[in-house]
Amino acid sequence: MYLINHAAIGIALASQVSNPVAAFGIGWVSHYLADFFPHGDEGVGEWAARKNEIPRILGIVAIDGMLFLGAFAWFSAHQGFSWSAAAAAIGSFVPDIMWGLEKLAGRKLFGIFERLHSWNHNYFKIKLPVFAGVSLQIMFAAALWGWLTLR
Ligand SMILES: [Zn+2]
Repeated sequence: MYLINHAAIGIALASQVSNPVAAFGIGWVSHYLADFFPHGDEGVGEWAARKNEIPRILGIVAIDGMLFLGAFAWFSAHQGFSWSAAAAAIGSFVPDIMWGLEKLAGRKLFGIFERLHSWNHNYFKIKLPVFAGVSLQIMFAAALWGWLTLR
């Protein structure tokens, strides 16, 4: 699942707490919960793995990261900057950061955390076409960020 969606889910779930440390933890845990559902990343992962995997992944992360920063700036402009919202977003990135570091290192670094992440990732093993997965996530991101920002 893209970071822009993980961040929105983390911020939504952590919106009841004002402590950034608790918000960070909620964001982190929310990542595993969100990945549980089929979300259509598999096709994009296969495209990246075909060649130049690391540059392709970094390209996707760069676009995803810019979209997240734009969404977070919009959210902060309406709701005010909040350290706990920022911490929830960063916490929600942790499993994918660990995944990326293992990919770059070419070996396992985080043991149980990444085993949990990959075991739990799309638990139902439903593979959506790339177009459907990407559209679904864009619609989901727009709806959730819109609700968070304009409520
Ligand atoms: Zn994940």
